[in-house]
Amino acid sequence: MTAERIDGKAFAALLRERVGALAGQFEQKAGRKAGLAVVLVGEDPASQVYVRSKHKATVAAGMESFEHRLPVDTSEADLLALVEQLNADDAVDGILVQLPLPDHLDEQSVIASISPDKDVDGFHVTNAGRLAVGQNGFVPCTPLGCMMLLTDRLGDLSGLEAVVIGRSNIVGKPMAQLLLDANATVTIAHSRTKDLPSVVKRADIVVAAVGRAEMVKAEWLKEGATVIDVGINRLPPAEGEEKGRLVGDVDYAGAEGIAAAITPVPGGVGPMTIAVLLRNTLVAAHRNAGLEVPQSL
Ligand code: NAD
Repeated sequence: MTAERIDGKAFAALLRERVGALAGQFEQKAGRKAGLAVVLVGEDPASQVYVRSKHKATVAAGMESFEHRLPVDTSEADLLALVEQLNADDAVDGILVQLPLPDHLDEQSVIASISPDKDVDGFHVTNAGRLAVGQNGFVPCTPLGCMMLLTDRLGDLSGLEAVVIGRSNIVGKPMAQLLLDANATVTIAHSRTKDLPSVVKRADIVVAAVGRAEMVKAEWLKEGATVIDVGINRLPPAEGEEKGRLVGDVDYAGAEGIAAAITPVPGGVGPMTIAVLLRNTLVAAHRNAGLEVPQSL
């Protein structure tokens, strides 16, 4: 068997196109563009790249992008004051504070200061709680993107065995919650799980969100499983390479011979994250403007 490659890049491009069209309709109805504010504290190079691509994607989707770049020594009081100002600004539908923050700033307090109705990253405890009890809130972008890829491929997930490897608040836990809501039978595996290979073996759906290069071996997988690889790991550079290759948490080459479908790294889950951020922002905009959220979002 050669697994089908789940093309997250193409899927994300279609989602962005759909969001762009609906953002145009929102502007006509609301008399303003949907707006996303992104706050970056400091000059972490990876964060700068993420913030730049979020800005470009927001503008390309026909939405307003408000960028706030603050110096690395910004006080918590100043950062909280900015978030307060954005909470009160009617032109801002979504607020994202780029993580990680410099060490002197408490991430939990900063996330807690964002209005839950503008928390398009879905990290606020109110949104985690809403997800847990099945209320409409905001779901973190990466697991929601994984879910879109899974339902696109598999349709109804009822009764399927799903194993999520990793239990972070950003990926593993919300992923498990979404799968549970879709009536899958869900196991969350983590660093203390005993005999991970046999846990993975029973899964029709495997979502790997660990951050360890090619940890999940082909022989752990059940024949015909659908594999979503969230991990992004850079291998040490091979001879003659300037930078090492990017790989996921799953041994892709091996898994291709056993799984029915698998997301590649790069080009799988990664591109979905920003596309879903745009989607969440447009959902926030409709809710904030008192408009019905379009079904196709
Ligand atoms: P994290 O470090 O917060 O969590 C990792 C989880 O893996 C932990 O819950 C831990 O219990 C588990 N774990 C660690 N070692 C393990 C082992 N040996 N066996 C089983 N479980 C083990 O990471 P995260 O933020 O959830 O991210 C996970 C990976 O996903 C990272 O590679 C990250 O770069 C990537 N990621 C990608 C995107 C994207 O857009 N594609 C977004 C977020 C995270």
